[in-house]
Amino acid sequence: MIGIGANLGDARLTVEQAIHRLALLPQTRLSAQSSLFQTAPVDAAGDDYVNAVVALSTELAASALLLALQELELAFGRERAYRNAPRTLDLDLLLYGNAQIHNETLTVPHPRMTERAFVLLPLLQIDPFVVIPGKGAAHQFAPQVAAQVIRKLL
Ligand code: ATP
Ligand code: CA
Ligand code: CA
Repeated sequence: MIGIGANLGDARLTVEQAIHRLALLPQTRLSAQSSLFQTAPVDAAGDDYVNAVVALSTELAASALLLALQELELAFGRERAYRNAPRTLDLDLLLYGNAQIHNETLTVPHPRMTERAFVLLPLLQIDPFVVIPGKGAAHQFAPQVAAQVIRKLL
């Protein structure tokens, strides 16, 4: 599962193009995609974010997938002036099957995914029964993010 976020330029277009590009990754198939959601930035400056989650079915190893995500971010002209600065495109590896990974470059499940409505709600839209390895059913975290303002884009 990949979390997608954008808040610079035409964020909605960026997210749609990013989904298209993810579907074109080698040895990879797009198996599901959420609606697009709009959220106010958390701990960050700038315009509203557009977020979505996609499910990929891939033969790529997690590390290779992360590299591919980072290449895509660069292709969309990502610049990071400072932590949580606005960015053209952010691609986070949320879940990689049932794997739990912890090394210098990669932590899976994404450690902050259960705190964020803009991750949790699109994820649950794709799979209401999805389990977060080490944490349990994702839906149990929904009440904790209920106060975060998020709007489904039509
Ligand atoms: P957050 O991780 O809180 O959403 P962020 O997305 O703004 O913050 P980035 O600056 O995009 O953080 O990423 C910082 C580093 O996080 C990357 O260089 C990458 O190596 C590392 N990282 C660790 N785990 C993951 C993951 N599951 N998905 C994406 N990047 C990860
Ligand atoms: Ca992120
Ligand atoms: Ca990121």
